[in-house]
Amino acid sequence: TNFSYTFDTPVYKASSTLNSGLFIDGQFVDPVQGGFVEITNPATGKVIGKVAAGTKEDVDIAVQAAKHAYKTVWGHKVPGKQRGRIVSKIADLVEQHVDELAALESLNTGKVFTVTKNFEILGGVGTLRYYAGWADKVHGKTIETDEKKLAYTRHEPYGVVGAIIPWNGPLVGLLWKIAPALATGNCIVIKPSEITPLTALKLASLLNDAGVPPGVVNIVVGYGHTVGVAISEHPLIEKVAFTGSTLTGRKILEASARTNLKDVTLELGGKSPNIIFDDADLEQAVKWASMGIFFNMGQICCAGSRIFVQEGIYEKFVPAFTAAARALAGSTGDPFSATTQHGPQISQIQFDRVMGYIDSGKNDGANVLVGGERLGSEGYFIQPTVFTECKADMKIIKEEIFGPVAAIIKFKDEADVIEQANDTVYGLACAVFTENVSRAIRVAHALEAGSAWVNCVLSLNDNVPFGGYKQSGIGRELGEYALNTYTQVKSIHVNI
Ligand code: NAD
Repeated sequence: TNFSYTFDTPVYKASSTLNSGLFIDGQFVDPVQGGFVEITNPATGKVIGKVAAGTKEDVDIAVQAAKHAYKTVWGHKVPGKQRGRIVSKIADLVEQHVDELAALESLNTGKVFTVTKNFEILGGVGTLRYYAGWADKVHGKTIETDEKKLAYTRHEPYGVVGAIIPWNGPLVGLLWKIAPALATGNCIVIKPSEITPLTALKLASLLNDAGVPPGVVNIVVGYGHTVGVAISEHPLIEKVAFTGSTLTGRKILEASARTNLKDVTLELGGKSPNIIFDDADLEQAVKWASMGIFFNMGQICCAGSRIFVQEGIYEKFVPAFTAAARALAGSTGDPFSATTQHGPQISQIQFDRVMGYIDSGKNDGANVLVGGERLGSEGYFIQPTVFTECKADMKIIKEEIFGPVAAIIKFKDEADVIEQANDTVYGLACAVFTENVSRAIRVAHALEAGSAWVNCVLSLNDNVPFGGYKQSGIGRELGEYALNTYTQVKSIHVNI
């Protein structure tokens, strides 16, 4: 079976046909029980096709294929240099197909085409190349013990790792996992989000041409309660890398605890603070704070959803920020138009959830300065929304909304804002805007978060680790650090 779509848009005109089966052991196959998921275009709310969905049995077949590949054609059977060349070839093929991949991603998620192409897919190409370079540079140490003995360490792959991906960065989230997993010699079984499997299927069709041996990468589309649970419980999967909500992250950790104690990396939710001090460059602070909360319609884990503004700049910042939100609302529309900057939320469920938070903010007494309503009559569009008069105990301040909803809070001084900013169960990211370098560094160090941005937001680099403090996660992705999360250390003692 196939999924076909003809794009006739201002920025991309072509037809795309995908094999819509599961990708196991180098081939597209039908699921054992013959299930499927429907694909919806969030810009119209209309169903545009369906793709196969697997179950526990398909995961088991994929894990067996991965285990076999690990023992015969991957892991230490293949020199790091060769694995690096293959990962690099995947990067080349993704780059060659960037327009089709970006179009499929925009169609499936409502993300703006040009942003998806340039930031996400080409960003993912960079991640593949970064880890391709590491493939032959992962080595241990020689450790002196005593005269008659030699000890050394090896960083060995886990064997078969699992990856569970959310819908908000379908391809980039997957590439962040495939790249270090393959470079370090692991085989992988991946579950894309059931809502957004199209780019994963397109990627699957490129893997054989890249020279990835059958079984090294397996992609099993399906629901969380079937395929996701099967991956997190599987006794032959030694590590699972998960990106998604804190609620599901907890379930993955519980599954590991009751099965084989597999290693778990979690990239979870957030409620990141953006702090604007009186001496900040106003224009820059407005520009970055707006991007921080409204990028990808607020559907990013590190969205700067709590904007703390100091008393002295408050009266200037709020109207300027509100004007930025209004301008963004004016560029809402078809994700395939060259002028669109703001698209729809991913699904009816998320649309209802975000509107529910907006209602709760209004009912709790916060003040809507701009937005707060649906945009258009079809699809899942919500106006960029700005609340002021927010209090610490409101739901819109405590909980992750995952939508285009900014909450502005006035603060007095540095000590006051550090306490308020840290008053959250999350700790993914934070940002500080000030021209005072000492204060910037002091505050960045005092905030409880895995990433701190000074006079910028959303800076993500392949060579810099990213991950959460507190309930935003365990472990790190990207950078040299992620290599450790895909390998285990063996110590060898030799009696000479
Ligand atoms: P989700 O937790 O509902 O789903 C994530 C994935 O887990 C999906 O593939 C889903 O099918 C699967 N899943 C669901 N239940 C499962 C179970 N019981 N066992 C195993 N797998 C299961 O999250 P979502 O709605 O897809 O994504 C939004 C969330 O992801 C937000 O909370 C966001 O903050 C978070 N997120 C975090 C990061 C990060 O890097 N920290 C990045 C992107 C998204």
